[in-house]
Amino acid sequence: MAEPVYGLDGKRIFVAGHRGMVGAALMRRLTAYDATLLAVPREEVDLRCQAAVEDWMARERPHVVFLAAARVGGIAANSRYPADFIYDNLMIEANVIHAAHRAGVERLVLLGSTCIYPKLAPQPIPEDALLTGPLEPTNEWYAIAKIAGIKLVQAYRRQHGRDFIAVQPTNLYGPGDNYDPETSHVLPALLRKAHEAKAAGAPRMTVWGSGRPLREFLHVDDLADAVVFLAERYSGEAPVNIGSGEEVSIRELAELVCETVGYGGELVFDASRPDGTPRKLADVSRLSALGWSRARSLRDGLEQTYADFAAAPAGSLRAPA
Ligand code: GDP
Repeated sequence: MAEPVYGLDGKRIFVAGHRGMVGAALMRRLTAYDATLLAVPREEVDLRCQAAVEDWMARERPHVVFLAAARVGGIAANSRYPADFIYDNLMIEANVIHAAHRAGVERLVLLGSTCIYPKLAPQPIPEDALLTGPLEPTNEWYAIAKIAGIKLVQAYRRQHGRDFIAVQPTNLYGPGDNYDPETSHVLPALLRKAHEAKAAGAPRMTVWGSGRPLREFLHVDDLADAVVFLAERYSGEAPVNIGSGEEVSIRELAELVCETVGYGGELVFDASRPDGTPRKLADVSRLSALGWSRARSLRDGLEQTYADFAAAPAGSLRAPA
């Protein structure tokens, strides 16, 4: 395993976006350190507002910043609110990265997403596929802003010698996920469907598409562990993918979800719903070479997530903001 190049103990650590799924997981992970965790509610500092961010950063002077704040959402939200997706994300990244530079922040980790890669990138997708081809048009507003974020990180490294890095997580699941049936991603959608089908004693449950597409899933607490691992051990201009390294078909996922939930009904595949891209897998060899691997198998992660889901008050199974 790579040796730490930076220690987090004793540091003032700012998690931007601490209420989001990723930010909250980072806050949980970082409690293991003897560090001061800083977080600021949106009502107090709007990260899209340059003056507010600069004032806050100059006053609080964190040593480390995890930039997990972003406007995120699925295909429907991206198509409906393109201005929000590009503007909010560009502003948040530009403001936080520039203010971090001005305040002398020692380490910054920008969280992106594997959807920044070209639509027809080779599979598994290596980091150097970035900017080699046209993007998936439905999420290019978000992707362009996130690519600009990576470029900001690289530019501040080059021009100002700042030790800022960028990472790209694959599809995530776990606490804080969106369980709304129409806008959620497949894993939380299937978990909820199986839970409700079981409760209702329904004989069958519907899965969208053919069940053949392949996807990769990572528990958000494993993601947080990898992000902190990279914050301590990686310094470089090249971004780093974070994934499980394992892909499953949607049919296999649905079967595993039903097993986890204890639902024994029939699976019906609804061909009127789109399959989307046939395969989406991140190449995680850069991360693996540093010595990181996930703690939870998909089976274990699902069990934990289902327990969290079943314990959550119904009102907390939110749709995206
Ligand atoms: P994607 O990874 O960007 O394509 O987004 P999704 O997670 O929404 O969908 C992944 C795959 O799961 C697609 O092939 C969907 O058709 C399939 N799928 C099967 N059942 C569901 C469901 O109930 N909800 C969602 N969102 N996708 C489903």
